[in-house]
Amino acid sequence: MAGADLNILIVEDNPGDIVLIKNLLSDIGEKRFNLLIAHRISDALKMQKITRSDLILLDLGLPDESGLNTLRTLLTEIPDLPVVVLSGLHDEGLAMEALSIGAQDFLVKGSINGLLLTRSIFYAIKRKELEDQLTHIALHDALTGLPNRQNFFMQLGRSIENAKKSDTLLGLLLFDMNDFKAVNDSMGHQSGDELLVQVAKRLREAVPANNLLARLGGDEFAAILGGVKTRDDLKEEIRKIIRLLSGPYPIEQYLIDLPMSLGVSVYPEDGDTPQILLKKADRAMDLAKKDLQEQVVYYTQEMEHEERSRKLFRETIHRAILKDEVELFYQPKVNLRTGHVYGAEALVRWRSPDKGLLLPGEFLPWIQGTEVLNILGDWTIRKALWQMDQWRQQGLHLPVSVNIDVGHLKKASFFRELKESLDSCPHVPTGFLEIEILETTAMEEFLQIQGVLRKIHALGVRLSLDDFGTGYSSLSYLKNLPVDTLKIDQSFVIGLTKSLEDLAIVRSITSLARIFNRNIVAEGMEDWTLAPVLLELGCEQAQGYGIAKPMPAADLPRWIESWTQSHRDTE
Ligand code: C2E
Ligand code: MG
Ligand code: MG
Repeated sequence: MAGADLNILIVEDNPGDIVLIKNLLSDIGEKRFNLLIAHRISDALKMQKITRSDLILLDLGLPDESGLNTLRTLLTEIPDLPVVVLSGLHDEGLAMEALSIGAQDFLVKGSINGLLLTRSIFYAIKRKELEDQLTHIALHDALTGLPNRQNFFMQLGRSIENAKKSDTLLGLLLFDMNDFKAVNDSMGHQSGDELLVQVAKRLREAVPANNLLARLGGDEFAAILGGVKTRDDLKEEIRKIIRLLSGPYPIEQYLIDLPMSLGVSVYPEDGDTPQILLKKADRAMDLAKKDLQEQVVYYTQEMEHEERSRKLFRETIHRAILKDEVELFYQPKVNLRTGHVYGAEALVRWRSPDKGLLLPGEFLPWIQGTEVLNILGDWTIRKALWQMDQWRQQGLHLPVSVNIDVGHLKKASFFRELKESLDSCPHVPTGFLEIEILETTAMEEFLQIQGVLRKIHALGVRLSLDDFGTGYSSLSYLKNLPVDTLKIDQSFVIGLTKSLEDLAIVRSITSLARIFNRNIVAEGMEDWTLAPVLLELGCEQAQGYGIAKPMPAADLPRWIESWTQSHRDTE
């Protein structure tokens, strides 16, 4: 700052005071200040448009405004300029109020000298600069430099007001990258960050300059397209943006194709507050993420109806659990070499009074990510333990595995519930209960549940990774997880004899399991003729329609008996 000339705008109507200020500032003897004079607030605003000042020295009593209103008007119109108030009054209350409104300093005309005034000016400019930096940090995302969620929300309110005044449409666009987690997990956070920076850069190029762009968090970006006359114009604008965004992103030595989903809500049709517009764009984006055909989804009224029926269905499922309409079927797991039935997987079914017997795929998606799925999980564990106890009393000693969602494992109450359930069945041997977790669970989530998995394992509950081969397991995390078993996903097993690729995958999974000393189970063995192939590949255990379909608990003892019988017969 030192050495450079500063433009100081004196807003003062009293000629005597103007001379006084001029004298004070010339006392310093250095030619640092270019002084500009305005007698009224309106003149000050006009002058500011022509010559940018670095600071304003403001008198509070002017012909066109007086008191603190003078300051308010100035700060509203020129918020980025530091203002030092020069008052004729010794009034501490007034001084404090001026500072709280946004003045940088409050000086009393009669009690200052040149040094004091100069120092106040320099400090005011420096302080304003620091304040602006802090505000910038608070309102921007550090990685991409884009406005953050809070900033976006404030500006969305302003954009809605502008659209109201100009009677135009406004599009709220939410972008989400479909596979960002996978990039982060497989290539590391640094590459993930680099990708986000590149996406932000392309968004800046794609979204027309006078519109707001923001990073709301994670891999979620947002834009506001304002000044649009018709819905068709908006759609055309969005098509252009999508075109500019597509195409691979170079990260390290790779070219990464990153499909994006886009949810859109429109003012005024979909709502007129930031909250409502965001909620609706979010809903549309959720659907865009699920829809493989449509990259862009516009919010519609029907979505609201669908949301309502989804909620009703969720409640029906909840009631079904309480009314014991859900049931566990059991699919045996056998040792392919000896034929021994060494366990069973519990798979949930819903006997709906009006829809008949429903498979998990027909109702679990409706409760995915909700508390009802956790309630079902706790119920499944209790029911499976109870069933093992029943069978034990009939002389059948059979370990059972249950499927538990990773969201449920993350809940603090999970461990307590599990322990209570185990305690209520003391005769079920330790190690008989097994929990299957989907391998597609992102690595980040595994890190979050590592602790609880250790505790569960320490209780003697066995753990397995379900649908193995479809996720992003890296060797290092497999090594660190207390998992006993890998269940090879059925998609690789079903076509084992027809696809060399599947054969290679199963071979590498079995060798991976051997290196890390884990058990291995082939899922989806639809045909018993696959048994020798699996054995040759080093996989001794399997489940699948080729052995038996999942069946009600009551049928399993009889099935095991006849299976054992026929297996003994064929040996
Ligand atoms: P999963 O855990 O991988 O279970 C295996 C699924 O494959 C079962 O489908 C089973 O019936 C089916 N299956 C078994 N052998 C064969 C075969 O040879 N060929 C073919 N094509 N399919 C076979 P299901 O019972 O429909 O369950 C589907 C998925 O639903 C399960 O996959 C599991 O992820 C989930 N699920 C089942 N029960 C529960 C539960 O109680 N809680 C939770 N959270 N998820 C469950
Ligand atoms: Mg399973
Ligand atoms: Mg599976």
